[in-house]
Amino acid sequence: MTTGDRWEREGADLRERVATACRVLAMEGHADITQGHVSCRHPGTPYYWIKASGLGLDEVTADDVVLVDLDGNRIWGRGKPHSELPIHGEIYRARADVMAVVHTHPPYATAFAASDVPLRAVSHEGALFWPEVPRYTFTTDLVVTREQGEALARSLGSARACLMRNHGIVTVGSSVEEASLFALQLERAAKLQILAACLGPYTWTPDAETAEKAAHLHSPRQLERNWGYYVRKLKRWELALAPTAPA
Ligand SMILES: [Zn+2]
Repeated sequence: MTTGDRWEREGADLRERVATACRVLAMEGHADITQGHVSCRHPGTPYYWIKASGLGLDEVTADDVVLVDLDGNRIWGRGKPHSELPIHGEIYRARADVMAVVHTHPPYATAFAASDVPLRAVSHEGALFWPEVPRYTFTTDLVVTREQGEALARSLGSARACLMRNHGIVTVGSSVEEASLFALQLERAAKLQILAACLGPYTWTPDAETAEKAAHLHSPRQLERNWGYYVRKLKRWELALAPTAPA
């Protein structure tokens, strides 16, 4: 058996999960032409799987997910890796607890990242990011160097998410599914806070209630339920979009 066979076999499930996460994110409004990417570590190795460049999030299949090392060298797979690999590589280097990274440009969270307003628990989702979501302000440009990636990992610190000024978001998790749900929840939290602010003064969950609320919203059981819902919704969505054969 060749090394290539090993990655193909051992990575099959992870590649499928990365591809599914990309398409769920697209379905939920995180698509921005061919930008944005999802990755996850290949456990027990210094490598991670990531969506290849040149495709929209909605187009990604397991065959479009490539294996790279922390310096961005391709180990296996047919696609060309994204130029923003330092986002992923440097977060994996800095955070042993992180197994997956999502980077997207969703409209509300990206608009929110352009401000200095703290994210509040205006909706349920906001509670998940309490007490604050850090902002990455080192550059507004693409993150393409190790220095930029390290600065992003420093801004993220031990948080679940980071707002990237005039650019987008990064979320992390202990699985592809968790990091992806955080990306969906961060976008919704930002959206609802922006909408509430349009009405004038607004309220948010008091600090004393927030930790307990966040625990209700983010248990392993809740994560499984929430993700299961999105996967079912994705199947319906893709079925509805599938071209029908001419009669
Ligand atoms: Zn980006």
